[in-house]
Amino acid sequence: MSKTELLQRPPPAGLHRPHGPKPPSGRRPHLGDRDDRCSRLVLGPKVLKRVGSPSSRGGSRRLAEKNAVGATGCVEEVGEGPGCCGLANAGNTCYQNSVLQCLNSVPGVVEYLRGGRGGWREGSEVTPRLAALVEEMWSRPPRSVCSAEGLRRAMAGKAWRAGPGSQEDAHEFFTALLQAMRDEGARNAAPPKYREIPDCGNPVAQAGEEWAYSKEWNDSPIDDLFGFQNSSATSCPACGAQSHRFDYATELQLEIPRGVGDLGAVSLKGCLERFRQEETLEGYSCSACGKEVAARKVAGVHRYPEVLVVTLKRFTYEWDGTSFRSGKVAAPLELEGEELDAGCLRDGLSEDRGPTRYRLLAVCNHTGGLGFGHYTAVGRNVVDGRMRHFDDSSVGPVGSLAGRCAGAYMLFFQRC
Ligand SMILES: [Zn+2]
Repeated sequence: MSKTELLQRPPPAGLHRPHGPKPPSGRRPHLGDRDDRCSRLVLGPKVLKRVGSPSSRGGSRRLAEKNAVGATGCVEEVGEGPGCCGLANAGNTCYQNSVLQCLNSVPGVVEYLRGGRGGWREGSEVTPRLAALVEEMWSRPPRSVCSAEGLRRAMAGKAWRAGPGSQEDAHEFFTALLQAMRDEGARNAAPPKYREIPDCGNPVAQAGEEWAYSKEWNDSPIDDLFGFQNSSATSCPACGAQSHRFDYATELQLEIPRGVGDLGAVSLKGCLERFRQEETLEGYSCSACGKEVAARKVAGVHRYPEVLVVTLKRFTYEWDGTSFRSGKVAAPLELEGEELDAGCLRDGLSEDRGPTRYRLLAVCNHTGGLGFGHYTAVGRNVVDGRMRHFDDSSVGPVGSLAGRCAGAYMLFFQRC
């Protein structure tokens, strides 16, 4: 199929919107973002650029060599390149497609799936399907449209409920997919023995022990990339005693700082600062003095990951006194650039002296409201390093990154 034919193909059928307005026939619906639609139909001026040398970063070098054969020195249209394929919408599957494009922008994930990093256990269902899809995306001509149907079927047999009535949330899909990949890539044949890690009075030693123990449970190539250690310190105002907790995590979930009726944009820095803000725990029973106090709690990061996934808590579920109310925090994210310094998250105990600077790899965006809307992604190609915009079957140039990421829901970063 030629490029022109691909661009002129009718929109996929079956995109349904449970609570949203019915789209006019013959045109893909879009909520709130006119630029998205424009870029899909009109690709803009055909800027010709010389393809640069493949990235020299360790994780993507081999991939670059594998894919750049015959490409170096050629001219290429912006928006095209190896690995830049669309994903067909099989009926409200944009939330899956956007997550898959994000994962296809993480060099370590692509390398793992394409066979460079070990492998997965025999009998695995999800990872080989995902690997086959990624292989297809990297071997077909740019702007081909691939189908994630095989992966969807494999996921349906796992924790993920596909089909009518399923959760149509990109974050939940990402969590289930990552969990399946972690399970299938586990290096331990059997789960380790459960044991308590006592508070020995030395939080740094406690963190080290907790980390070693959590690595026994979470030992897979995917955990090597995404795993990190959160911490929280709780202190008693009555006796001054401090207690520490260290938790294993594969993503950082951040509240969006909001005032009542505040409709302005938020920055990632603001969300990071909100994470480090002291909280009050009412009715905390102090194990040192035995008093019931309003304790102070501060969260932080003790060990940083190679790939940092930041999820903004856009969807809320709160008790208002009579019933649970769900809603969406639609505040646009003001992306200040492609770099993130996560140093402000470091807890006071951390011995992780590695860099805390991260580079943006991909963003999963949500436009629309609760129960309806559309997911798209922006992703950096692991070979040519360029950002592209993915909207189901279409692939295009990004234009303004800040504009594209206003609806950011999940952001993927690589440690520099
Ligand atoms: Zn106390």
